[in-house]
Amino acid sequence: MDKEIKKQELNNLNERWEEKCECELKKTATQAVPGDGDAGAEIVFIGEAPGKSEDAQGRPFVGVAGKFLTEMLSAINLEREEVYITNIVKYRPPNNRDPLPEEKTACREWLLAELKIISPKLIIFLGRHAMNNFFPDLQISKAHGKLLIKVFKGMSTKYFFPLYHPAAALYDGSMREILMADFKKIPKVLKEIEKRQR
Ligand code: URA
Repeated sequence: MDKEIKKQELNNLNERWEEKCECELKKTATQAVPGDGDAGAEIVFIGEAPGKSEDAQGRPFVGVAGKFLTEMLSAINLEREEVYITNIVKYRPPNNRDPLPEEKTACREWLLAELKIISPKLIIFLGRHAMNNFFPDLQISKAHGKLLIKVFKGMSTKYFFPLYHPAAALYDGSMREILMADFKKIPKVLKEIEKRQR
């Protein structure tokens, strides 16, 4: 699908979902925080849920965790604008508590529809919540930095790469080093996917 058409489809999708989403969090959040970035991106990053800055600005990963994510992207020569960034839950949970299972379920179709439109080469999970939304039995401490291959019904992307969440790693020296090392594997992972698709 042409990038401009994808962009239009994403706009339509977000408008439709902002109206019809039945997530309880909608009642307490300032606004929806839909995905953001290049509709034609090869990589989609999936985080957990918007925080305070995201809730205020209506864009994902614009606070401290977002700044760290942008820095890690530039370490592998990628601009934020070249990837697509979204969350499993599109509304801020009160006081940044973990999203509840029913809140994840309420936003799940929205996320799946975004992924279907973008159809990226690789989906990168930022943290355990995003990973467990697709791979409920995996532990982030064991799965981080490893390429996962799985076919999901109705989804063209089958390559997934779990990482620690930047907010969790930000103030934890050893987790931060692991996250940065895993992040630097991304270009190699993309090459590996290309090789497999040949
Ligand atoms: N953390 C997330 O998981 N998502 C955001 O958008 C911001 C912080």
